[in-house]
Amino acid sequence: MKLAKCRHHDLQIDIPLFSDIAEEHNRIVGAKTFYKTVQGLYNLALFHQRIGIRIVVHKQTYKRLPQFADYIYHNFPFVAQVAFMQMETTGLAKENFDQLWIDPYDYNTELREAVLLLADRGMKPYIYNAQLCVLPEDIRRYAQQSISDWKDIYIPECEGCVLRGQCGGFFESNRNAHSSHIKKVKHISSDILC
Ligand code: SF4
Repeated sequence: MKLAKCRHHDLQIDIPLFSDIAEEHNRIVGAKTFYKTVQGLYNLALFHQRIGIRIVVHKQTYKRLPQFADYIYHNFPFVAQVAFMQMETTGLAKENFDQLWIDPYDYNTELREAVLLLADRGMKPYIYNAQLCVLPEDIRRYAQQSISDWKDIYIPECEGCVLRGQCGGFFESNRNAHSSHIKKVKHISSDILC
């Protein structure tokens, strides 16, 4: 209610959720926050606030992405967008690297299913921090250039890639922790990007 009273003309509140299962979310966060977060989402919706959901994809969250997307569709149909975010390896993510890191290529099946499930049902899925050459072609259109300029880099493998202008690149902190499937794209074969 306090937030709504600000009547900000251009505000979106992006809220992280880590699982559709309360115990899983709480285990990953390290605190019992699942139901508080769900209640917060409903409170914001009640006051007509613009809400986004953020899902950091890593070794402990990727397997249930399709079920998670289905849960969001059924329980939070009012959200403006759902962002699937590739992990930035700083802070706690760096400290727990072995427990969290998975090559983004290895969760493409689950990511694709989740993104298309939401898109097919009229919701707005986005993919943040991803590299276009790693993503399946039919979901590249959902990728955003989401990495802030000051920490956005390309690596030597990107030299000569035709998608470099559209691809979001890499976090500086992921210079040595990136997919082993980075490969420059030589031709744009279809209008898969929009
Ligand atoms: S080679 Fe580099 S610039 Fe090209 S799509 Fe892959 S990550 Fe992006």
